[in-house]
Amino acid sequence: MNPGTAKPEDLRELYRELILDHARSPRHFGCLPSATHTAEGVNPLCGDKLKLYVCITDEDRVSDARFEGTGCAISVASASLMTDTIIGMRTGEALDFFHALVGRLSGTAPDTRQPASDSVELGKLRALEGVREFPSRVKCATLAWHALNSAISRSGSTASTE
Ligand code: ZN
Repeated sequence: MNPGTAKPEDLRELYRELILDHARSPRHFGCLPSATHTAEGVNPLCGDKLKLYVCITDEDRVSDARFEGTGCAISVASASLMTDTIIGMRTGEALDFFHALVGRLSGTAPDTRQPASDSVELGKLRALEGVREFPSRVKCATLAWHALNSAISRSGSTASTE
């Protein structure tokens, strides 16, 4: 199905299936002994916990990423989609996605309607936009991204949604 021509309800169904698929069989799940950066993320409201492993090259590129932990379907699917997305990216590009996604989901970024944020093509990450209707789940969907931000900025820290 082409998302550009799909009816909104079809698109919702497509995104719902994508989330369920990633929640059931998460990509890049497990630890990464060669990680150069790690961070933990906790979402006390829901009980989601994850540890993120990222391997960043001398050229500042994400060569590999994995995560492990336990959490609800949204948090696991989001972490799976995130690792899928950022592998191969430059760290700056990955952080652009972090800012764009968190802004889009929480609506707190001042520039959510501006071209700066729109210039990031979220692609399949738009599947996560459905959580905007459920504010308590936004933290589940952004947890892995906060961990990514911590991992890239300061190795070994813990990101909490609270
Ligand atoms: Zn959760």
